[in-house]
Amino acid sequence: MTQDPLHILKHTFGYPSFRPPQDVIIDTLVQGQDALVIMPTGGGKSLCYQIPAIARPGCGVVISPLIALMQDQVSALEQLGVRAGFLNSTLAPDAASAIERQLVAGELDLLYIAPERLNQARTINLLRQAPLALFAIDEAHCVSQWGHDFRADYLQLGLLAEEFPEIPRIALTATADGRTRAEIAERLHLTQAREFIVGFDRPNIQYRITGKNNPRQQLLGFIRAEHAADSGIVYCLSRKKTEEVAAFLRQEGMTALPYHAGLPAETRAHNQHRFLREDNIIMVATVAFGMGIDKPDVRFVAHLDLPKSVEAYYQETGRAGRDGAPATAWMTYGYQDVILLSQMMSQSDGSLAHKQAERQKLDAMLGLCEITSCRRQTLLRYFGEADHPPCNNCDTCINPVDTWDGTEAARKALSCVYRSGQRFGVSHLVDILLGKDNQKIRQFDHQQLSTFGIGAELDANQWRSVFRQLVARGYLAVDTEGYGGLKLQESCRGLLKGEARIELRRDTKDIKAKRSKHGQ
Ligand code: ADP
Ligand code: ZN
Repeated sequence: MTQDPLHILKHTFGYPSFRPPQDVIIDTLVQGQDALVIMPTGGGKSLCYQIPAIARPGCGVVISPLIALMQDQVSALEQLGVRAGFLNSTLAPDAASAIERQLVAGELDLLYIAPERLNQARTINLLRQAPLALFAIDEAHCVSQWGHDFRADYLQLGLLAEEFPEIPRIALTATADGRTRAEIAERLHLTQAREFIVGFDRPNIQYRITGKNNPRQQLLGFIRAEHAADSGIVYCLSRKKTEEVAAFLRQEGMTALPYHAGLPAETRAHNQHRFLREDNIIMVATVAFGMGIDKPDVRFVAHLDLPKSVEAYYQETGRAGRDGAPATAWMTYGYQDVILLSQMMSQSDGSLAHKQAERQKLDAMLGLCEITSCRRQTLLRYFGEADHPPCNNCDTCINPVDTWDGTEAARKALSCVYRSGQRFGVSHLVDILLGKDNQKIRQFDHQQLSTFGIGAELDANQWRSVFRQLVARGYLAVDTEGYGGLKLQESCRGLLKGEARIELRRDTKDIKAKRSKHGQ
């Protein structure tokens, strides 16, 4: 006998209504069908499997890579009167056997399991003896080898479909891009599952991106002016930097804690615990921090370094304002970030194709930094939502960007790409435009090109910015088959023929955004 989901929502969880499409997802599972759910962080994924697990007879088995959070999740459920447990490597053997007994006896509503555990024959045998309500595969993008959260143990989860064909399964993630979604469906045998893709807009988050010049002082100024009494997260690229920045903020009188994978487990757990329980704490962290963190009142997320993809930026900034109240996503970025990230990518041991895919993702992120139009529009377009109006709650909407007529420069840049055969990268193209005399120029006889030396009115940095913006707006594409050469795209025809004009962004300045009507 199944219980009514709405009744469970109200009486167990204390919420008056579902956030669509939670209700439809829950019904799908209650009726024994599979579901694939793409929902932004903070959207309310947990209830999508917790409620059907309670509603259906038997136990809902949740596979999650977030071992550190299982204890917290289970305690929270127990406080609501839900019979929950977890099995992972942190559990003492007799505690684990107790959970196993409860599972088989049908005394659990929800069981959280680490993926590596599920790959043991022993666990599968155990599950065969137990009454099961459903399988939920959380953070399902971990099955994707393209993403940065890949876990080999997730690859085995496809076997659930074979071992337990009659038990409904739900896979959940906040990662939206099409390739990852297809990979999840295929690897987890969910190609027949009903797909739910929930809107990505987070209207209460104000997006701001500013050029780097003395980033620590910029950060300090931002926090003091707008979030002096708030909780927030500051993301840095390196472990060392998280500790330095945390120390700097402490010197300035703030409560700032570092968090990265190199800290002892107890320190990490302690800092995370303080962040979740106390007010006015700033977590200075690498990307190791955040997956699965449920703190609704994070008022700002600041990036001192460029994230390596739009997906990462969206996911990290999405940790702000989960309660729906105004929050700020603030970032400083500089050319150094791009160089550093590119170096990290080229030194990684992925395949060439993988490196190129990463490079493309970084270019899209840069595109978001350099646009002159609404950031939210661009962000949402990236996730496939094309028809949002300008948001009036991002820096470029609130303080329109200083632009210049880049038509002539763009035309020179594009014809330089064309004349040199559409196979060279930015550095070499800039060298041609500036009329540099170097070995590569001579090797290809490029001093003979009509575009050689025609770009003296701009310096190398400005030319690079022109090229980046042309890539960002889709006039040029980076060749992913070859070695990152730039190619003309259909859309640049108008510019080349002198029929279209283009406004380019002037070097980013520190923009102090006023609060918009959304951000009171
Ligand atoms: P996700 O896993 O998608 O990041 P969570 O499941 O952690 O999000 O939910 C985010 C927050 O929203 C939680 O605090 C949760 O209790 C709350 N929430 C989820 N669904 C509802 C609802 N229908 N009504 C009110 N609050 C909800
Ligand atoms: Zn906007």
